Amino acid sequence: MQAGAPAETAWSAASQGGMSTAGSRNWLFVKVHTDAGITGIGECSGWPKVVETAVRDLERILVGEDPTHIERLWQRMRVAMMGHGETGVVGYGAMAGLDMAFWDIKGKALGTPVWNLLGGKVRDTIRVYSHASSVERAQALVAKGYTAIKTGGVANPLEKLATLRSALGADIDFLVDLHGPPWLQAADAIALCREMEQFRPLFVEEPVAPDNVEVFRRVRDKTSVPLAGGERLAGLWAQRPLIEGNLVDVIQPDTGRSGGLTQMRKIAALAEAHFITVAPHAGTLGPVAEVAAVHFLASIPNALILERFEEDWEGKHQVLSSSLRCVNGFIHVPNLPGLGIELNEDFIMSHPSVCNVRLPISRGSGAYAPGTEVESVYYQARFQRKNYFSVNRGLK
Ligand SMILES: [Mg+2]
Repeated sequence: MQAGAPAETAWSAASQGGMSTAGSRNWLFVKVHTDAGITGIGECSGWPKVVETAVRDLERILVGEDPTHIERLWQRMRVAMMGHGETGVVGYGAMAGLDMAFWDIKGKALGTPVWNLLGGKVRDTIRVYSHASSVERAQALVAKGYTAIKTGGVANPLEKLATLRSALGADIDFLVDLHGPPWLQAADAIALCREMEQFRPLFVEEPVAPDNVEVFRRVRDKTSVPLAGGERLAGLWAQRPLIEGNLVDVIQPDTGRSGGLTQMRKIAALAEAHFITVAPHAGTLGPVAEVAAVHFLASIPNALILERFEEDWEGKHQVLSSSLRCVNGFIHVPNLPGLGIELNEDFIMSHPSVCNVRLPISRGSGAYAPGTEVESVYYQARFQRKNYFSVNRGLK
């Protein structure tokens, strides 16, 4: 350790604050204080009120420990929780925020960015994509410099992809997220993926629910489109079947629920061994985890792209005292010590979390419509009625 590093520094307390935007965005931020006066910041995505309880429980086994021995602390946290079964996204979410804060502390103590602790920079900028369901929205993103756009949902994903490809041409990468609804049958997913092949998507995400990897394999074996998945899974071992089964071309660990940067880099290494790229999920993330993802992607060889909500809740930009610089669809990797950010705590505390999950979406939204067996029949009937296949032939 260099001079000035808190080699024997113990942390004194963990504190956390959650925030919400009327239930649509619920973020949980964690602060870890040390007796050296250094404070680390982290974020846990999803289940903020439940994860907060897990963080407070873990606090008891961490107070008095040296926060720079990150791997040891990570193993200590996991063992502390495993006696009650697998911890899932709640336990791994809590560990993610705390682990993120440890890396931030260590970087600040050593006066170097987190990406440097992770092995140094492979790249100086991170390519990002944003979301569009209409030609107008996609054109607005392209005008801002974006070269990759995600569309999808369970409402007409094929039609959206065909329309966007036809309108924006061959120079833009399109990503399609089917959201793996539990009622979408493999046969429908295969039909959709095969029809999408002609539009050359960068990847198709969660063509079926990830709960059954053998069904995922059925889709994999029947289509040539690159597949992506992993956003709902927590930690290295949960991602392992997708990676070791070669079921995806792109693995999508969520920076706020994958157990932290300590786990993310192991997931990336396992993926690298299988020639699989990494594109972290950011669907529920706030600005702290986004910064952590940028440090992480800067340091790994198999980074593909990062999800970014170009039009997020306006308050997102007030959570931090500074924001990432995104130019022409690329985020510039920050160079300040640690994660290089500070929280605007007054703003965060004035927006307390109200719930753990996103509020229900209307049936007609086409995103995560309530799923039943009836929905499956509904989808298949619509699939035929819309006559996608003739639509696509017309666009060839
Ligand atoms: Mg997704």
